[in-house]
Formats: sequence, C-alpha cells, structure tokens
Amino acid sequence: MSENLAKSLLDIKTKVSLCSICFNLTDKDPCLICSDQNRKVGSICVVEGPGDQLALEESGNYRGRYHILHGALSPLDGVGPERLKIKELLKRIDKEDISEVILATNPTTEGETTASFLYDLLSKQYEHLLITRIARGVPMGGDLKYMDRMTLEHALKNRVSINP
Ligand SMILES: [Zn+2]
Repeated sequence: MSENLAKSLLDIKTKVSLCSICFNLTDKDPCLICSDQNRKVGSICVVEGPGDQLALEESGNYRGRYHILHGALSPLDGVGPERLKIKELLKRIDKEDISEVILATNPTTEGETTASFLYDLLSKQYEHLLITRIARGVPMGGDLKYMDRMTLEHALKNRVSINP
C-alpha cells in the first residue's frame, strides 16, 4: 500500500465519528440533521442503526430528528438496555422538550422487544409524551434498510399511537 493511500484511509477513519446528540455517523459534530434549525423540533424517531436512519431520511417524509440506538435488545445474546443508547435518549427527551417519540426499530423479534421495552420505560416516565410505533406494511422479520421508499413512507405516515 502506498503511503498516501494509507494516510488517506487513516483520515477517513479519524474523520467519521458519532454525533454527540443522535449518535449517527458523522464527520461533523453535531451532525447535519441535529444542527439543522429548519428541522421540526419536539419529535425524535428512534432507529437501530445508521442504515435505518438513512433509509427513513431518503423516504423523504420525516422532518424531525433521529436517535440511533446502535443495536436492539437481545437477551439471549446478552444485549441488555445498558448496551444501547437508551440513557442518552432519556436525557434528550428531558433536554430538548420532546413531545413525540416514534419507535422505528425493525419489525424483528429484537426490534419488537426493544420497542415494547422503550414503550414501557417512556410511558412510565413521561406522562404526556406521545409514543408511536411505525405501522406494519413493514413485513415481520424485515429490515428497514432494505425496504423500498413507498413501504417506508407508508409505515411512517401511518404510525400508530401505542399509548393506552
Ligand atoms: Zn446528530
């Protein structure tokens, strides 16, 4: 490997980091979405990974902010809440005056487990928070990052309230 190539690979590695607010991959902190003053504040869309955020953003329908958990709960694999960016999400709800949280974890067993865990946690802690879950249409076992734009747009637009 040439020295230049090695150096530029090193640059890429050092430039991409996590946004300190939403934990998306970014080369700028805060990331473009968190620092965009034209985005609707008060709404956070919670996703498992950066690829899911990208897919939802490309569906073009959502103008709020995101929160990237970096995984989903999987008790059998020893992935508990402390391994995800859940504490950080709670801090944001307090700090950013959030009125709606959209649970957009994947429609898999882990994703559903994570969504219901977050629902229990958030509904206990924040009485007036609207908590929604993206609609089905997103097939069970699917993965947001491989879904087409129409399906995602529909799922987000037809999200349902899971408050009792
Ligand atoms: Zn961000």
